[in-house]
Amino acid sequence: MIGAALSATLLAGGTAASASSSPASPSPEFTASGSSSSTPASPEPAAPASSSPSPAEPSAAVRRTPAARSLSVPRETEPAAGALPQTPAHAAGRRVSVDLGAVRVAHKERPPAAPAWVNPNPSGAVTSCFGPRWGRLHAGVDLAAPSGTPIVAAGAGVVVRAGEADGYGNAVLIDHGNGYLTHYGHLATITVTEGQGVAAGRQVGTEGSTGHSTGPHLHFEVHRGRYQNPVEPTEWMREHGVDITGCAG
Ligand SMILES: [Zn+2]
Repeated sequence: MIGAALSATLLAGGTAASASSSPASPSPEFTASGSSSSTPASPEPAAPASSSPSPAEPSAAVRRTPAARSLSVPRETEPAAGALPQTPAHAAGRRVSVDLGAVRVAHKERPPAAPAWVNPNPSGAVTSCFGPRWGRLHAGVDLAAPSGTPIVAAGAGVVVRAGEADGYGNAVLIDHGNGYLTHYGHLATITVTEGQGVAAGRQVGTEGSTGHSTGPHLHFEVHRGRYQNPVEPTEWMREHGVDITGCAG
């Protein structure tokens, strides 16, 4: 019974974190926020503050090698199994001290870093590239996978638009806070809301064929500085460590 009561208390406490405040309206121009310190609600995880005290100075006592010089210097003796490799110090019969404190500091563990950028439709195949198409600019790359496939944020950022967009159907626009925006079009469903912070790989919707589309695919765009300033997305992604093969360049 005590355990159940504790669990209930923990659950009740946990719900407080899920309360969300209403986001500020994004500017209609969707200007990408730069990397200045004024970026609002940056989802970038702050580098964990080092809470550990500064590494202790190696104790002088450790350094003080006891005068364990044996009077009977071993000559060509077989090393015992598991013995440390022979060093000049060993050969001279001296004891070698190992500063374990220094070793521990040098190999301080860190959690593996999550990739900063990911393919927004990892199982999708390129069906159309950035460039002129049908007398106008095709401003993104098309990545086709079965309808309903999860579509994810290419990088961490803030959702600045989520909803119906002319021609794009259900679309999501993310400001990455580094001067670039990414745009995801023709979604069947949208699973984020405007003002929401997202991490790289966070699902933003499902693949569909809404808007001006001839079949299920993700239309993915990268914009520099502001929305409606598209750059070739696969080259940009490659520069950020993500290979989306199928387009020249
Ligand atoms: Zn497209």
